Amino acid sequence: MITKPIPYGHQHITDEDVLAVVEALKSDYMTQGPCIGEFEKTFAEYLGCKYACMVSNGTAALHLCAMALDIKPGDKIITTPITFVASANGFRYQGAEVVFCDIEPKTFLMDLNKLEQILKASPKGTYKAVVPVDFAGYPIDEEKLRKLADEYGFAIVVDACHAPGGSFIDSKGEKQMIGNCKYADLTVFSFHPVKHIATGEGGAVTTNRKDLYDKVALFRTHGITKDPALLKKNDGGWYYEMQELGYNYRITEMQAALGISQLKRLDWSIERRNEIAKKYDEAFKGTAVKTPFRAEGLVHAFHLYIIQVDPAKRKGLYDFLRANNVYSQVLYIPAHTMPYYKQFGWKEGDMPVAEDYYTKCLALPMFPTLTDEEQDWIIAKVKEFMA
Ligand SMILES: *Cc1c(COP(=O)(O)O)cnc(C)c1O
Repeated sequence: MITKPIPYGHQHITDEDVLAVVEALKSDYMTQGPCIGEFEKTFAEYLGCKYACMVSNGTAALHLCAMALDIKPGDKIITTPITFVASANGFRYQGAEVVFCDIEPKTFLMDLNKLEQILKASPKGTYKAVVPVDFAGYPIDEEKLRKLADEYGFAIVVDACHAPGGSFIDSKGEKQMIGNCKYADLTVFSFHPVKHIATGEGGAVTTNRKDLYDKVALFRTHGITKDPALLKKNDGGWYYEMQELGYNYRITEMQAALGISQLKRLDWSIERRNEIAKKYDEAFKGTAVKTPFRAEGLVHAFHLYIIQVDPAKRKGLYDFLRANNVYSQVLYIPAHTMPYYKQFGWKEGDMPVAEDYYTKCLALPMFPTLTDEEQDWIIAKVKEFMA
C-alpha cells in the first residue's frame, strides 16, 4: 500500500551533495568562482566535447544559442511540437519565426523525412537553425541531421535537456555521447530538479566551435569582457568593456558544486532508469498498454517513460492513478496548439502525428530512486484500471 504521492520525476540528493554545497557556501565565492569552471570541465570531459558553458537554466541556454547564432527578427527556425515550450521560446526571444515539424510516431522525435520536405520546399539558407529534442531521452539521429545541415545550410541546436548520459552508434560504428557535438553545432541541457542532474535551476551549452563558445560565454555575462586579447583599448587592471548587449545568465557556485557532485552519479542514474524501463516493458507485455520503442545500439537516457493507451481511457487512467497516489503526467501538449503560438497561424490539425500522440500519451513515474515496491504498485494500478 502506497500512501505518499509518487511523482513522475524526482531529484536525488545525497549527503555528499549536501556537503559539496556547504563547502561551496563556506568558500570565498558564491558566484563566478572555481566550481563553475570545474563543473564545465568535468561535464565537457564526460560528454567528450571541447567546451561547456554553465548557465542559469536550460531556457537561458537555448536563448544563448540563438544569440550565438546571430538569430535576428524574422529569421526562421524549425523545432518539434512535442517538447517543452522553451525549445521554441529561446529563439522567439530573438524574434525568430518558429516553424514546427511534425513528429515520427515510433520515437516521438522530430520526423527527419518531414523535415527534409520542409527544407526542400524553400531556397537553401531559408532556415537558420533546426532544434530537435531528444524527447524523453531518446537520441535524435544527429548524423542524418548533419547531412541535411550541410546540404541546406542551417545550424543544429540539439535540445538534450532530457538526455544527458544518452548515446547512439553512428554509421561508422562509433559510440557518440549526446552533447559531444560531433554532428551538432550546439547542445543544450537543463539541471531542473526533474532532470537527470538537479541543481535547482541550471543549464549548459556544449559545443566544439570556439566562435560559438566565445559568444555564449560573452552573452552569459552582460556582453562584458576583461580578456586583454579582445579589448578595443586597455586603461588598466580595472578595465572591462561591454561589447554586446548580453544578459546575466550565470549559475551560482553552490549550484555548480551540486552539479559536480551529481555528475558522478549520472551513469548510475541512466543504468537504474533503464532497469526501471525494462521492468515496465515486461509488465505491460501483451496488455493494451503500448510501451516505448527503442532501436538497437542506442542508450536511451529515460528522462521519461511514456506509455500510450486508448485515448478514451487516458484521462480515466490519469485520474485513477492520481487517486492512488501515482502522479503520472501528460507530456507534452503540442506547442503549436498553445494560444501564444496560435497567434502566428498555427492550429489544431497542422501536426496530426503530434496531436494523435497527445491524446494517448502518459508518462509513468521514472526516477532512479523509485523503489521496487513503488513500481510494483504503479504497474498493478495501471493494470487494474486497464482491465
Ligand atoms: C526542462 C526543459 C527545458 C528548459 O529547461 P529549464 O532549465 O527549466 O529552463 C527546455 N527544453 C526541454 C525539452 C526541457 O525538458
